[in-house]
Amino acid sequence: MRSQLPIYLGLLGLFLSGGLVNLPAAERPNILFVFTDDHASHAMSCYGSKVNQTPNLDRIANEGMLFENCFCTNSLCGPSRAVIQTGKYSHLNGFLRNGNRFDGSQQTFPKLLQEVGYKTAVVGKWHLATEPQGFDFYEVLYGQGPYYNPPMNRNGKRVKHVGYTTDIITDITLNWLKSQRSEDQPFMLMYQHKAPHRNWQPSPKHLTMYDDVTIPEPDNLFDDYSTRGTAAKTQQMEVATHLNANDLKLKAPGNLTPEQRKLWDAAYEPKNKAFREANLTGKDLVRWKYQRYMKDYLRCIASVDDNLGRVLDYLDETGLAKNTVVIYSSDQGFYLGDHGWFDKRFMYEESLRMPMLVRWPGVIEAGSKNDDLVSNLDFAETFLDIAGTAIPADMQGRSLVPLFRGQTPTDWRDSFYYHYYEYPGAHMVRRHYGVRTDRYKLMKFYNLDEWELYDLEKDPREMTNVYSNPEYESITKQLKAELKTLRAQYQVPEKDPVQSNKPKRKKN
Ligand code: CA
Repeated sequence: MRSQLPIYLGLLGLFLSGGLVNLPAAERPNILFVFTDDHASHAMSCYGSKVNQTPNLDRIANEGMLFENCFCTNSLCGPSRAVIQTGKYSHLNGFLRNGNRFDGSQQTFPKLLQEVGYKTAVVGKWHLATEPQGFDFYEVLYGQGPYYNPPMNRNGKRVKHVGYTTDIITDITLNWLKSQRSEDQPFMLMYQHKAPHRNWQPSPKHLTMYDDVTIPEPDNLFDDYSTRGTAAKTQQMEVATHLNANDLKLKAPGNLTPEQRKLWDAAYEPKNKAFREANLTGKDLVRWKYQRYMKDYLRCIASVDDNLGRVLDYLDETGLAKNTVVIYSSDQGFYLGDHGWFDKRFMYEESLRMPMLVRWPGVIEAGSKNDDLVSNLDFAETFLDIAGTAIPADMQGRSLVPLFRGQTPTDWRDSFYYHYYEYPGAHMVRRHYGVRTDRYKLMKFYNLDEWELYDLEKDPREMTNVYSNPEYESITKQLKAELKTLRAQYQVPEKDPVQSNKPKRKKN
C-alpha cells in the first residue's frame, strides 16, 4: 500500500482539479462486495464446516485471505449494514436496531467513492428503510424481501420479478456488470443477498438437497443454560420452541406461482407426511426440527454459492478478476443449533463472528489467513483505502489493507467493543455490551445488572460463566478497565440514545 500511495494521491489530485475526466478503469481496483444475511462461518467449508460444502466461497479463500476473527459490533441485519456504510458504531450512525430508519444524508463510503470517480451500485438486500444514497444504480428489496417473486426498488421505481430471489439478484448484478458498468471508471458493486435469512425457503433447484443425509448436531443442542445468566435463559430463539409452521415448512409460502407451488409440494409433502405419521415428542421432536431448519438453511446457502460461482466465472471470463477486489462477508453470524438456538444478537461467538474472505490478485497471497481482531467497523475504511482515497478522521475503524499485505500494524487493536440494543424486540435478547480479547470475553447485560465472563481458551463453547470465580478476579479487573477505555474511545453515551423510529417500549 505505502509504495503506491503517492501514485494514488497524484491521481486524486488530478481528479479534484478536474484535469483528468476519463481515467482508465485499470488504474484503480474495482471492488465487488458480496454480502449475505445471517451466513455463519461454520456453514462454509473453507472455515471447516461440518455440515456443508461451499466450493465457490472456497475459491475466494483459496485465491485470497481468510479472516479468522472478524466480529460484528451489533449482531443484527440493519445495524450491521449501517456500520458498514458509515464506519461508525450504531450510537453514532443512529441505526441501533431493526425498524430504525437510516439517515442517508450522513457521510457514507459509497458517496466518498463516487466523489473520487468510482461508479457505484447496490443490488439486493438493503434493509436500511430509507432510499440508498451514493449509488449510480440501485435495485434493492423492500425491507427483508421474499425468497420468491420479489418486488424491487430500481432507482426509486417499483419493479416486479418472477423467480427465485437469489437467482434474480445475481441476474441483475451480472446485467449491471455487462451493460451498465463504465469502461472508464472503476466500480464498487455491492452484491447483497437476502439469503440465508429466516425463513429459509430453498430454490426450486435445491428443494430436495440433503434429503438423504443427517446433518451432525452441535454438542450443545440441548443446552439448559444452567451455568449462564438470565439473558440466556429468557431469550426466545430456541429450535425446540420458537420455530413456527412457516419456518418448518409445514405450510407452503403464500406467494408462489402455480408452477413453483407444484415443485414445492412435490418436495415437502412426502417429508411432512412422514413427520406427521411419526408423532415425535421430546428430544426426538427437537432433533427433527433441527434437521428441518438446518437443511433449509443450508439449501439457501447452496444457492448463494452456485450464484456466486456465476459471478466469479464472469470476472474470470472477462479478465476483470485481475483488477477486482472480491470481498465476501455476511452481516453477522448465526446459531446453527448451538446453545439450542437459531438467530443471532448475542455476543457469544457464533453470532459475533462474521465470515470474511478477500481476494485481491497481486496484493493478497493466495490461501493466506489472518487472525487479528477485525470488524465490520473496518469495512468502509478498507474500501476507501483500496481506492486510494483518504479515510475521514471521524470514521472509527481502520483499513485492513496493511493486513491484506501481511503487514499488521504494531498498534493494531487487541480488544474489541460490542453493543446490542434491540430489547424488547424480536427474540427478546437483553441489551448488553462487552469486550473481547484474543482469549477472554466480558459481557454486561446492563438492564439486568448481570455480568458474564468466558475464558475462550478453556471454554470455547461458552458454557460456563466464570465471572464470580476468584481465579479470574484480576483478569476481570483488567477487562473492566479495558471496557471503560473502549467506551470512552468510541464515545459511547452512558444512556442508550433515543431511536429514530421511536419503537414502542416497555420498561425493562
Ligand atoms: Ca442478518
